[in-house]
Amino acid sequence: MNTIVAIVGRPNVGKSTLFNRLIQRREAIVDSVSGVTRDRHYGKSEWNGKQFSVIDTGGYAVGSDDIFEEEIRKQVQLAIEEADIIVFVTDVTEGITPMDTEVANLLRKVKKPVFLTVNKVDNAMREDDAYEFYNLGLGDYHTISSINGSGTGDLLDEIVKLI
Ligand code: GDP
Ligand code: MG
Repeated sequence: MNTIVAIVGRPNVGKSTLFNRLIQRREAIVDSVSGVTRDRHYGKSEWNGKQFSVIDTGGYAVGSDDIFEEEIRKQVQLAIEEADIIVFVTDVTEGITPMDTEVANLLRKVKKPVFLTVNKVDNAMREDDAYEFYNLGLGDYHTISSINGSGTGDLLDEIVKLI
């Protein structure tokens, strides 16, 4: 079985940076659906001998704020349908935004495993800033830095336990 891990979240939280860190084979294909501002990148990853596919959602062509939010909702909905495991990325430097809350509300209804990750925790000082993300109501979270890689190994350990 090919397990699919989808990375979701609002723009600029670091989804693509995390995706690039997770995939080893740099052969991400862009799946552009005509007429839709939807680009999804697929990659293959392996951790502790377990293989899985990763989807990077995003690549938004922004029209208006409404379209923008609608697009994110669609992306999350698609990820929910297509993925086996969902990684929800947020940004410690911005804190919880209304769009994060909206994504969290969608994900709370999902019966699939959701890993809440607080990204951009580049140093220990930012660990404390992450506490507020408990308020998203998704339980415990993983603090990671997609740029320097801290925390991503622990996250992968937990993900592949489910594969
Ligand atoms: P996406 O829109 O969610 O795909 O976000 P990107 O991966 O394109 O990243 C948005 C911005 O955040 C870029 O400037 C990244 O370099 C930056 N970024 C991503 N991950 C981290 C991180 O762990 N720490 C810091 N400080 N910046 C990050
Ligand atoms: Mg991106």
